[in-house]
Amino acid sequence: MHYENFGTAVYIPARVAASLTREKLESDYAFIEKYIGVDKVYLETHRDALDVDKEQIVMIKSFLQYKGVSVSGGITTVLPDFEGAEKGKRRLFNTLCYTDPAMRDRVREISEYAASLFDEVILDDFYFTNCTCERCIREKGDRDWATFRRELMKDVSKNLIVGPAKAVNPGIRMIVKYPNWRESYHFTGYLPDDQQEIFDATYIGTETRSPRYADQHLPEYLSYSLVRYLDHAWPGRNGGGWFDTYQCWSADRYMEQAYLTAFARAKELMFFQWNDLIDNYFLGGMGIQLKKIDGLLSGVGEPTGIPVYIPYASNGENHLEMRLGMLGIPVDPTPVFPSDARVMLLTESSASDELVVSRLRDFVRAGGDAVITAGFLNETGKTLREIGLTEAEITGRRIGVTRYQITDDFAGYIDCEKPIQFPEIVHGNNMSWSLLNGGDGDFHTPLVLMSTYGKGRLFVLNIPDNYADIYRIPCAAADALKRVLSENEYASGTDFSMFTYDDGSMIFYRYVKDDVKPSRIRVYTKSDVAALRDAVTGETIKAQVIRLGWRHEYRVADVVLWPGVFRKLRWE
Ligand SMILES: [Zn+2]
Repeated sequence: MHYENFGTAVYIPARVAASLTREKLESDYAFIEKYIGVDKVYLETHRDALDVDKEQIVMIKSFLQYKGVSVSGGITTVLPDFEGAEKGKRRLFNTLCYTDPAMRDRVREISEYAASLFDEVILDDFYFTNCTCERCIREKGDRDWATFRRELMKDVSKNLIVGPAKAVNPGIRMIVKYPNWRESYHFTGYLPDDQQEIFDATYIGTETRSPRYADQHLPEYLSYSLVRYLDHAWPGRNGGGWFDTYQCWSADRYMEQAYLTAFARAKELMFFQWNDLIDNYFLGGMGIQLKKIDGLLSGVGEPTGIPVYIPYASNGENHLEMRLGMLGIPVDPTPVFPSDARVMLLTESSASDELVVSRLRDFVRAGGDAVITAGFLNETGKTLREIGLTEAEITGRRIGVTRYQITDDFAGYIDCEKPIQFPEIVHGNNMSWSLLNGGDGDFHTPLVLMSTYGKGRLFVLNIPDNYADIYRIPCAAADALKRVLSENEYASGTDFSMFTYDDGSMIFYRYVKDDVKPSRIRVYTKSDVAALRDAVTGETIKAQVIRLGWRHEYRVADVVLWPGVFRKLRWE
């Protein structure tokens, strides 16, 4: 192991594996080892039409093992048309039609071949199906595609991938890696719930690339929060986070993927792929930063955060919780309803759970605080109003908000020239109370609305039409939400993340973006502390006492965050 807090792994795709000569392998290895260090290699046996010869696999494997690198196998389940397979199917990226008998035979052979060479094999994230050929339409019958593919891929996982691999090599560990598009798994037969019973371990894609320009528009925070999600889904069996160099148009953007994966305490960082790393200047910076991160993480506990309930097979307000994470709110998404939490966040995705409203009612009634988004209210509002959790309603009209009013014990008004569009929410005056209003002219709508139920409270959080506008909400206005989610500890500012851990450590990171400059954030706590200490530089920032309204007294410290620089801080 090159680092104390995580392993490093590199993936060698089949095409590269087939082309490596002994000399090239040696010089490539020397380069990667020099800059980032290689603990492990995943060596692919199949991708597209290519199955790598056994002799070639053995040559690479023995060289790497001689260097002290552990070597596992990899498979990418894509195949071009071949003799015997049914023709004329429109298969995206050459993913398989798993109802085609010839393709089923081929994928079983591919799994058996890898199992004959390795004691551990990972499936790259093309292990999905979107085939809509005549045969798939026929076999689907009356079921919807998601239900059909769930049953199909359970069968494939058991009977064509894992079963045959274990028949060849009984001790083998089979790993299913999930892609970075969690919100769409269920459309294409990815089943992190059912596949737990079939596979030994999992892995997660944490590549976010350039959110503004890349086709998936994934918030940077995903590299942290998807690792956390999979940790909750498969406790102790999430092997690591996997990212690549593609569409990363700066070294900072590339490295942020690694920082956040490591901050989530991923066991292993997977660098995809071998060839892309060679002579790549990204690796020079990465090597320096990995050492710093490793030092930073020493002694740091388990990540903590506001639980966000994202059930399996759900979508809606996609990535919203990640954007809140980039507003400096530590969020912790989980597929398990977090009944034991003090506070939780529910988004439109949470509404995919048919039992969510009764679970929410029981949680709030027993004394919990739940924050529901406008999307969740939109999906479940009728039932929520029937059982009396709220009377609030989304009207369908829109307001371009140019003024924010913080009613949370102190009268603050903030004017902004450029409007942000929000849905209008109506509520019963004094039945519920708005902590934050958004208005224009002499009209406004609640942006954070509070009501009570039993021993607990329900908050409705209004969400801008364009999620990117979340970062444009004035900091003091966003603080009204931060106090709801975490009254005792929060940090005011934007375009940064605050990662919190159960030992009291806090890591702050400010993202490198076109329009992000160095900035001062204010860290708040209600604990009786004297100062905030930087764990690396030893610098201490004396805490000052401030009051917000008549209810809140805080110790605060102002911290400068530079884009691209992480800081580990602790109250003392
Ligand atoms: Zn098909």
